[in-house]
Amino acid sequence: MTRLVVVGSINMDLVTVAPRFPAPGETLLGERFVSVHGGKGGNQAVAAARLGAEVHMVGAVGDDAFGQPLCDALVAEGVDVKHVARIENFSSGTASITVSGGENQIVVVPGANARITPAQVSDARRVMACADAVLVQMEIPIETVEATLRLGHELHVPVILNPAPAQRLPTDWLQLTRYITPNQHELAILLGAEASEDFRSLMRRSPCPVVLTRGAEGAWFREGGEPQHQEGFHVEAVDSTGAGDTFNAALAVFLHEGLPIAVRKACAAAALSVTRLGARGGMPHPAEVDALLA
Ligand code: ATP
Repeated sequence: MTRLVVVGSINMDLVTVAPRFPAPGETLLGERFVSVHGGKGGNQAVAAARLGAEVHMVGAVGDDAFGQPLCDALVAEGVDVKHVARIENFSSGTASITVSGGENQIVVVPGANARITPAQVSDARRVMACADAVLVQMEIPIETVEATLRLGHELHVPVILNPAPAQRLPTDWLQLTRYITPNQHELAILLGAEASEDFRSLMRRSPCPVVLTRGAEGAWFREGGEPQHQEGFHVEAVDSTGAGDTFNAALAVFLHEGLPIAVRKACAAAALSVTRLGARGGMPHPAEVDALLA
């Protein structure tokens, strides 16, 4: 069984469907409300567990009404939450999302995610030393991302960095990274390049191997030499939320089969994820991925 560590955010997404967006100072009657478990870290942990991996989460929740349910949901999917801290007198991460006519407005409050420390990563050293891969994203403090990259490098455990939301990173950090998994926009920001630069040329300039996601077109990957293309799988797309998270999780789970196979399976898993509503709703089980690949 593949063993993974995910270092990242855990959020409660609070989604209100409204007839229109309220003006400043206005109170509006909404149509529907739903709360959904999210955060890139939590989503990637769940996607990997559903694909059959043993997953250890490093993260944090608050001691508010959301903290316990967020952890319970991870445990229900089989994710180990021993390294998820409960921060006293602090809120859990939230995303308040208003949806109207196909547009949305989002306010994210990092809450406890902003308190995930490098010391927590050190505390997870023992599980990390036995892991096949580590996944980390950038919804957590940047010094904790750095600590994850450095510990993974020291332990010779491949770290997959999903650079979202994007920001520029020092080149020496990227040299510690086994793979980065940006989309084109994120890769340009990460490298401090022009957004208009061709994505293949950006990939050639990266100081570490790149797996670049291209939505329905699939993904490109480069470990040296020329960038290679993996076609996307044709599916009836319903909701693309969480496609990137499913992609990253699958890449980590299947990495031991070699990069081209892992990217193919990641494209298949992510394609399946867009066929159902919600970030976690569409995350597939291995049999579904095998069926799409057959
Ligand atoms: P997000 O962060 O919104 O999840 P992203 O920009 O990180 O998105 P995308 O490139 O949109 O990631 O999608 C990730 C992967 O999901 C793609 O590389 C592709 O394999 C798969 N995918 C996304 N949309 C579709 C689609 N409509 N049909 C088939 N596969 C898709």
